[in-house]
Amino acid sequence: MDHEGFIIRPPSEADSILLQVTLGCSHNRCAFCGAYRGKPFRVKEQARVMADIDWAAKKLPRHSRLFLMDGDALVLPMRRLEPILTAIREKLPRVRRVGSYASARSLQTKTDAELARLKELGLDIIYLGLESGDEDVLARMNKGVTVAEQLHQAARARAAGLKLNVTVLLGLAGPEGSEQHAQATGAALSQMDPEQAAALSLMLVPGTPLHDDWEAGRFTQCTAPELLAELGMLVEHTHLSRGLFLCNHGSNHLPFRARFPKDKAAVLQSIEAALAGERELKPEWQRRL
Ligand code: SF4
Repeated sequence: MDHEGFIIRPPSEADSILLQVTLGCSHNRCAFCGAYRGKPFRVKEQARVMADIDWAAKKLPRHSRLFLMDGDALVLPMRRLEPILTAIREKLPRVRRVGSYASARSLQTKTDAELARLKELGLDIIYLGLESGDEDVLARMNKGVTVAEQLHQAARARAAGLKLNVTVLLGLAGPEGSEQHAQATGAALSQMDPEQAAALSLMLVPGTPLHDDWEAGRFTQCTAPELLAELGMLVEHTHLSRGLFLCNHGSNHLPFRARFPKDKAAVLQSIEAALAGERELKPEWQRRL
């Protein structure tokens, strides 16, 4: 496969064919994110993508999942996406699930009929970075979209039959904004009601504006207990009808994977036990992005 630069994919796409259709992120301005700094956004040549699908058909014919990369493949216009999804269906018939990162900005470039067409052609799950349900936090982090826009676009994606994985970021509001961030984010997750919600913990990346703010004393990082307390408030305010709540990212101090609402009380107990020092936390040196 032709992979340019480093590869970023969700943990649950570890066994997927990784098909790179764009490079970098079309936004690339979030204050906390160093994922694609130094990798300018570019659309890959269609012939290169098609050659990769042919390669995968020969070398990875038994794979049942495929993930479209890099940061936001859905910014591609339909005239590029339709042939790619059609070729995946024809040449990789065992692929049952195609996933992609998505953003409110890329979703709004598609009509309702186009979203439904993408689902029909095999796109099954999208990974959306909500980060926070607090409008002020999103604006400070230069996310480029509002909470209201994210809620609207998530609802359109679900109406088209796409599964949603929504990522939120603990610690993004610092200790002083923690409570408001947790409550508003729980409320936004509840409204989106995704199949999967994933909580990550902020890790400052050198070279990002947020790291500069931290160095200049303009941003305070949450401590491990503050992140745990924020996680507890987030869980408390998150009401999913039947979704997975994932906290198993390498950045988290207390990893777990739970089905809500069934496991919610047990998760809250476990967080309380950790806050009381009765459960061991992942040491700082083991945390990673
Ligand atoms: S968080 Fe997502 S949208 Fe923001 S710069 Fe990083 S990859 Fe792009």
